[in-house]
Amino acid sequence: MSILEEPIKDVLNVKNYVDGDWVDSGGERKDVVNPATGKTIATVPVSTTKELSRAVEAARDAFPLWREVPPLARARCMFRLKELLEENFEELSRIQTMEHGKTIDESRGETRRGIENVEVAAGIPSLMMGDYLEDIAAGIDEYLIRQPLGVFGMITPFNFPFMIGLWFAPYAVATGNCVVLKPSSEDPLCQTKIVELAEEAGVPPGVWNVVHGGLDVVSAMLDHPDIEGICFVGSTPVGRDVVAKRCGATGKRYIAQCGAKNFAVVMPDADIERTVASCMTSFYGNTGQRCLANANLVICQQDLSDEAYETFYQDVVDAFVAAAEGITLGYGLDESIQVGPLRDPGKKERVVGYIERGIEEGATLTLDGRDFEIVGDLPRDAFLGPTVFEDVTPDMAIAREEIFGPVASILKARDLDDAISMIHANPFGNAASIFTDSGSLARDFRYQVRCGNIGVNVGIAAPMAFFPFSGMKDSFFGTLHGQGQEAVRFFTESKVVIERWF
Ligand code: NAD
Repeated sequence: MSILEEPIKDVLNVKNYVDGDWVDSGGERKDVVNPATGKTIATVPVSTTKELSRAVEAARDAFPLWREVPPLARARCMFRLKELLEENFEELSRIQTMEHGKTIDESRGETRRGIENVEVAAGIPSLMMGDYLEDIAAGIDEYLIRQPLGVFGMITPFNFPFMIGLWFAPYAVATGNCVVLKPSSEDPLCQTKIVELAEEAGVPPGVWNVVHGGLDVVSAMLDHPDIEGICFVGSTPVGRDVVAKRCGATGKRYIAQCGAKNFAVVMPDADIERTVASCMTSFYGNTGQRCLANANLVICQQDLSDEAYETFYQDVVDAFVAAAEGITLGYGLDESIQVGPLRDPGKKERVVGYIERGIEEGATLTLDGRDFEIVGDLPRDAFLGPTVFEDVTPDMAIAREEIFGPVASILKARDLDDAISMIHANPFGNAASIFTDSGSLARDFRYQVRCGNIGVNVGIAAPMAFFPFSGMKDSFFGTLHGQGQEAVRFFTESKVVIERWF
């Protein structure tokens, strides 16, 4: 076992970043704990609503000048930010592992995906371009321009502490808007480091602010008259019942990307070895704390006889369980570790509650993650091993609700239509995958399934930065999504001009 050097040595005193200054908050402070070691690595303020208002004022005041900066000059800030993020790539990745618990490889992947958004946002001069049509009537021309709106509030979740802020902030800033971002107070260090680099990249004071806090700060953001729109990523109850409702009432535009319960469907012609390898990452990667994580494995009978199906089913389950049993748990800064802890002991308790519920509901616990081995001398409080349930039916809580942990439920389906019906009966619609060798089954699946992100022989259907990060049903509220061209649309309003000269 060899642990990479930790970039955080002393307990950090995290501050808000407002109007180009690092400011202390008068509010209480919360500890940020490394879930693998149980050690406090930072304290973060629970800012007051007054402090939030100060940041919104700074953003509002910075807006008139920032929107006049030519798009190419704003793009240059993005190019410089990309370079700085690359220079700090390894440090940022290790910070993620320390503040979240994920493995260093998962953190490096997240850093890469986050930086890609900055790269896409650097293309803003073309992304933001309008349209022009001559002679819409004799001697009259018409054109469309996209303009920034002002200040946007951003609220991010704990599970991707580096990447998710970058689904939005670079596009907002590159289009000429100003930002007040509230990271999850569970792991706020990456967003703090990003804004430090944004300042070094030339983003002027007031344009990209970070205010730490909890419900009070979010509430104040949602009601603030100077905030034009909200980008939220987090759980469905908060996204739907708080963010979408309040933004609807106050007339703010919003993106609310929410919870998930994703299905992976295995057809009899699938390559079992490759399918299971992909499933190990999609079910257990990030310790199952991923909105694109697969949670329900549906093994389809399709055209097989009952006897042949039992053999196929057992082959898939045996390979799945053997691979899950072989996963090593430990501190993510050890490069040999495959799965880290959950974000905190409270989250583990919640997942264990679901394991107990699955047993009560009559599912068979084939692999019990509560009984696990861990590499190294670490507290066990936040760790939980890969878990597998069989004999699961779609109505059980473990199959319907978002567990957000390393728990796989295995279900049986008569055929592809039956599997698709199960997916449609579930309230969420974030992602779904099919594993098959058949082009026509794959087409049928992607054509019919009402989910925002579809994987064909891919377990984690993560869209690249130039595609929208989609979601449907209870997984998404709003009209436009984060990332790429849709984010550019969200952060701009169209103005159409009809021109006639005499
Ligand atoms: P969460 O809803 O608890 O918190 C998200 C953010 O909202 C945090 O910044 C938090 O401080 C704030 N918040 C929490 N409760 C609030 C309340 N009552 N009122 C106002 N603000 C509140 O979510 P989480 O546990 O941090 O993240 C996990 C969730 O995020 C999962 O449901 C996961 O599926 C979802 N997620 C979705 C996507 C996506 O793109 N669809 C991506 C990542 C995570």
